[in-house]
Amino acid sequence: MLTAEIIAVGSELLTPFRTDTNSLWLTDKLNTVGVEVRLKTIVGDDDARLEETVRDAVKRSGVVVLTGGLGPTEDDITRKIAARALGRRLLLDEKVLDDIKAKFLRWGRKMPEINARQAMVMEGAEVLPNPNGSAPGMYLEHDGRVVVLLPGPPREMKPMFEGLVLPKLAERSGGVKVVRRVLRVAGLGESAVDERIAPVYTQYKNPQTTILFNSTEIEIHLTAQGKTAAEAELLLDGLAGQIEERLGDAIFAFRGETMEEVVGLRLAVAGFTLATAESCTGGLVAHRLTEVPGSSTYFMEGVVTYSNEAKTRLLGVPAELIERHGAVSAEVAEAMAVGVKQRAETDFGLSVTGIAGPGGGTEEKPVGLVYVALADDAHTEHKRLMLPGDRYLIRTRASQFALDLLRRRLI
Ligand code: AMP
Ligand code: MG
Repeated sequence: MLTAEIIAVGSELLTPFRTDTNSLWLTDKLNTVGVEVRLKTIVGDDDARLEETVRDAVKRSGVVVLTGGLGPTEDDITRKIAARALGRRLLLDEKVLDDIKAKFLRWGRKMPEINARQAMVMEGAEVLPNPNGSAPGMYLEHDGRVVVLLPGPPREMKPMFEGLVLPKLAERSGGVKVVRRVLRVAGLGESAVDERIAPVYTQYKNPQTTILFNSTEIEIHLTAQGKTAAEAELLLDGLAGQIEERLGDAIFAFRGETMEEVVGLRLAVAGFTLATAESCTGGLVAHRLTEVPGSSTYFMEGVVTYSNEAKTRLLGVPAELIERHGAVSAEVAEAMAVGVKQRAETDFGLSVTGIAGPGGGTEEKPVGLVYVALADDAHTEHKRLMLPGDRYLIRTRASQFALDLLRRRLI
């Protein structure tokens, strides 16, 4: 397998103020053509360290991709240092110089003298034109390795790499196709998921399986290689099918969709409408639902009733019910769901009430206690949750469980 490494250049990328996102994007693209990224390095604008890094890189990796440091200023060292590390001269390319001058003319300015540096091209390198900026990139074969220099700004780097570099690498990698699929699971913990599916996925080296946990769900990442994308997809279908047999409805997405997308699609297809009433999530459920384009066809309204008084005034939850059971209770959650459904005249009413903390918990009703409830014309149900985590996680997880309650009703 063709291996690659990425070198991101720029002192700002070592600070908390700028993140090297290019290498992640590049890794994803390289994987799709069967090139495996084994290492990435972030190097500050430092001549000696960059030179050493490039020298080492071409010894060990089939493809070396550098991004950043192609600007016109003194601290943009990639062009000069890469040439030094590879023992190649930098030559002025008149055509590139004319291109840069013409670009500045179009932008209504005269080319500053320092931009002439961007027309210096490494001996033997192919120039990669940059329609979105002034710095061209370079593609070079060196001792049987490929070295690519790309500009740092993502909007310049991405089209250049996808359009001009990726096709060459795809050919070089022998046409191996790598396909990924992300399955997402709700309502089960990481170990519960692993316990059920490990007997299946450990039998395969291809596809490869990784189980990841994020704040609201478990993700199962499947990666398959094949001679064609169709062949790889077929391998994924096979394993995904076996995983589904073991996890059933707990899988809510087979193609990386979010919970709100899945719920939205089901509502839209069935022609149902929804209203929400939220307390501890402060509108997070409504926010997530409305992140999905087209949600106006099924999501009618959302009410944030934080105080007891608001629950009574806006949702018609009897004050006496709140008095008797407390605002965080199954009875109030259900009354909120029914109340919002009736007032909005929707098919479903969905509600959340709970204690997100850090304060406000009692022995009887600790932080993390959340009730979600769902009402439709036929009946009302609730779920009692004890959610771990801090305030942020409890709110996020509560919104996920609320949406999942609706998803399961729609199956
Ligand atoms: P440069 O090519 O070094 O002049 O970088 C220009 C700008 O591109 C920087 O200020 C960053 O905003 C952005 N940039 C450079 N490298 C990266 C990277 N690895 N990931 C994301 N953005 C980057
Ligand atoms: Mg820089």
